Order: sequence, then C-alpha cells, then structure tokens
Amino acid sequence: MKVIHTIGETKSWLSAQKSAGATTGFVPTMGALHEGHIELVRRSSRENDLSVCSIFVNPIQFNNPEDLEKYPRTLETDIPMLREAGCHMVFAPSAKEIYPEPVTEQYDFGALERVMEGEHRPGHFNGVAVVVKRLFGIIEPDRAYFGEKDYQQFRIIQALAAGMSPAPVIVPCPTVREADGLAMSSRNRRLGAEERALAPMIYLTLIVVKSRAGKVPVAELESWATDRLATAGFNVEYFKIAHAATLQPLENWEPGERVRAFTACWLGNVRLIDNMELIF
Ligand code: AMP
Repeated sequence: MKVIHTIGETKSWLSAQKSAGATTGFVPTMGALHEGHIELVRRSSRENDLSVCSIFVNPIQFNNPEDLEKYPRTLETDIPMLREAGCHMVFAPSAKEIYPEPVTEQYDFGALERVMEGEHRPGHFNGVAVVVKRLFGIIEPDRAYFGEKDYQQFRIIQALAAGMSPAPVIVPCPTVREADGLAMSSRNRRLGAEERALAPMIYLTLIVVKSRAGKVPVAELESWATDRLATAGFNVEYFKIAHAATLQPLENWEPGERVRAFTACWLGNVRLIDNMELIF
C-alpha cells in the first residue's frame, strides 16, 4: 500500500496503476480510523480493482475551533488498518496542498442543507462539498463510499455528484456500531468513562422511537425522545423525524414514505450524532 502526500504524485501513481477498464473505489476520511471506516474500505476493495482512501482533517468544515484542535490524528495506527482492509493507496495531504489559495466556492444545496447539521453547523456542508469535490477531481473514482452515520452528508454528496460529469456513483454504507449500540465515531475516544457509559442511550432511544413509529404522533415522539435524552444528562441540539430523501420534517406518518429519525446531542464537550431508518 502506497502512502502519498502530494496531488502531483497521487495523479501520476494513479495513472500508472489504472489499466484499461479498471475501476477505482474511493473512501474519504478524516482519519482516527475505526471499524466504521474500515467497513467502507473493505467494501471498496471488494467492488473495485483499485481502492483509495484519503486522510485529511479538513479545517474548513469545522465551525468550532476547539473541535478542530481536539480532533484525533493517528496516521501511524491508521495506515496498518488500511493495508489490512485491502486499500491500495492512502492520500494524506497537508492543508496547504488542498488549499494553496483562500477558498471562495459557495455551494447551495437548498432545503437539504437548511435543516439539522446544516442549520446547527453554519458553513459545515460547504466545507465538506469543497473538499470532496477537490478530492473527486484528484482521484477520479468510479465509486465513492459514504457512511449512513452521516446521513445528511451522504445526501449532500449525492446532490454534489449529481452536478458533476463524469460523476462517481455514491454508495451509502450502513452505520457500524459498538456492541452496546453506540455508533462508532472518531470523537468517541474523547468521551470520559461516565459519558461513554451513558452514550449508548442515543441508540436505545432511536430503537424505542422506531418501535413506536406510526403509532404515536410524530411531534409527541420527538419530544418524548428529546426529554428522555435531556433527563439522562445529554444536551440535545435536535431530535427530528424527517423524510429520508428530502430531510424535511415529517408532519404525519405517511404510509409508504421513507422516514428516518436524526439526533445531535452533546455529552460534556463532545458532540455526537446518530440516525436510524423508521419502518412503520
Ligand atoms: P469521517 O472520518 O468521520 O469524516 O468519516 C469518513 C467516512 O466514514 C464518512 O463517510 C462517514 O459517514 C463514515 N463513517 C464514520 N463513522 C461511521 C460508522 N460508525 N459507520 C459507518 N460509516 C461511518
């Protein structure tokens, strides 16, 4: 497995490797890898001839300077995990390499970005779109793999790809969880012991919401979930039930409609997000 830090070397390595008809799979990450990331890489390796992963803590998608500063950076341990998962090349650039000039691009994803993460983290999705567009331009993948853990991000990237030609196929991958249900996240390692013990309540609450979907009015279920998490000690930023395609709030249960529950909440100074498909 090759580890490369510059765009120039990445492009020349890829053009030497890509034989006629070979497909490339791509997994963009911010490193501090866990089993959730590795599942994406394994899937990319299974479905493509060449698999590339990027590790880049993208400064322009952080709306909170403390979060950026505290974001774990573990390249030394990430590399062997990727090698084992069948990755062929890791692109780990510096911020100067990706952003030699100040960033001016402004994307508009309309209603998709005005809710939930977009509403609570101003500029976040613009930063994500800028970096992913640049990475797609460098790697030119046939398929790109994104976790449903960040479901709104996956929908934003689908919208980004819809405006590109050629565009990679955006492949959503199920959320990988710890044994107690907590969605794996690089930020979990910042939780203290008590916070870590409490954190699976997010998953347990989503499970109860799923079991009551279609039976209890939407608004009542949202406020029940918010109260349950708040009473347990979470600082709940939002708990929303929304249409899976548009991410707009669901008013009433509509048979046949694809629906998900989404939440973001804080434990101490760590912000956690999770979501789940509701079947009713
Ligand atoms: P990140 O490094 O947090 O930017 O995540 C890189 C990719 O891994 C994104 O597509 C995430 O949605 C995905 N990912 C992160 N955590 C998980 C998880 N627990 N299960 C599945 N995918 C995940």
